[in-house]
Amino acid sequence: MTTPIVRFAPSPTGRIHIGNARPALLNYLYALSHHGRFVLRFDDTDFARSREEFAQAIEVDLAWLGVRPDVVVRQSQRVARYEAAAARLEAAGLLYPCYETPEELEKRRKLQQARGLPPVYDRAALKLSLEERARLAAEGRKPHWRFKLPDGVVEWRDLVRGDCAIDCATLSDPVLLREDGSFLYTLPSVVDDIELAISHVIRGEDHVTNTAVQIRLFQALAPERPAPIFAHHNLLVGGTGEALSKRTGSLAIASLREEGYEALAVAALAVLTGSSDSVHAVRSLGDLAHSFDLAHLSRNAARFDPADLGPLTHRTLALLDYDDVRERLEAHDIVGFKAEPFWRAVRGNLTRFADVLDWWRVVEGEIAPIREDAEFLAEALALLPAEPWDEATWSGWTSAVKAGTGRKGKALFHPLRVALTGAENGPELSLLLPLIGHARATARLSGA
Ligand code: GLU
Repeated sequence: MTTPIVRFAPSPTGRIHIGNARPALLNYLYALSHHGRFVLRFDDTDFARSREEFAQAIEVDLAWLGVRPDVVVRQSQRVARYEAAAARLEAAGLLYPCYETPEELEKRRKLQQARGLPPVYDRAALKLSLEERARLAAEGRKPHWRFKLPDGVVEWRDLVRGDCAIDCATLSDPVLLREDGSFLYTLPSVVDDIELAISHVIRGEDHVTNTAVQIRLFQALAPERPAPIFAHHNLLVGGTGEALSKRTGSLAIASLREEGYEALAVAALAVLTGSSDSVHAVRSLGDLAHSFDLAHLSRNAARFDPADLGPLTHRTLALLDYDDVRERLEAHDIVGFKAEPFWRAVRGNLTRFADVLDWWRVVEGEIAPIREDAEFLAEALALLPAEPWDEATWSGWTSAVKAGTGRKGKALFHPLRVALTGAENGPELSLLLPLIGHARATARLSGA
């Protein structure tokens, strides 16, 4: 098989949210597991709404998720190609000017509805003579341009939805160019997919109808090669079934990052929701790619609960090895020989990664010890063994304290934990104690 080439094609008209992360990741993971290439394409032909700063922010958000494009293209820089394709379609009699206003079209649709007919464009403009076109142009009317959709049923085998068929008779000839000469998404997407040799188009199921139209455009513009393979994934919806497009706020990738959720937790939730694979924590996008297959996606909406991101973040952190987080720890000055055993000690006890700062203070800095029972702590201190310490030191010491004081269970362990760490709960003390060390432990137990 030749190398697959996939693309994620956002419009830079806002920040991306977890619902957009889904196609981005599905494409990226597909490329990852098939040794393919991933193209990031900005669909920015809508000059009024597209903004360069959104494009840049989307790249930042994708990078945070671990999605690194092999190529980045901007449709705004490729308009000449779309114009050439439009000219070819026009020369082939497949693109025609239409002069109806939106109000006229709406009126016709209502009439069709009243008669029980499907609201399909009636191709009235195709019947205009050259003189009639000239007269409309002289009136100052600017045309929009429609693709004359060849008849018949368009069929494809979808990697998610199986065999699909759409009868073109049920579709209006799509508008490819607006009155102002700007392109709608439909044609540029196909031109780019041809030129960039996109092999697989993986996108939301809201594009299924577009696919019928676009397959016809592939056939018209590149009859010598097969259209890409299509996969239409189910869309992420909130707990009450609402579409995510309208609530980018708290579910924007940037917001989730600021909330401290792990990128891998966001990725796992974005990808595994609505599939036959249960949502689980992963160590890397490579692992996620292994545990995932497009064919596992369900046809039902992918209902997800943002509240799962907290527990998933906790479980993700617990899975990560020191090498996975070394740079992030270094960024917080968590370095030196203690850094690796420290990570192994605390990783299972983190709500957010930033919690490492608190625990690093426990092993390397100042804390406020909670000293509930000074007499007991003094007895325990007297039994504290000399260094060197290892992971067996805690159990040896607490056995001695138990024998010496007669205490056991919570009465034994709790005062020691709160004195040594300043916290009611936390990582295993067998792992923490050697990192805290004799000098700090002595100071905390004695209150010195
Ligand atoms: N810009 C389109 C969108 O965001 C791209 C769809 C596609 O992948 O073809 O919906």
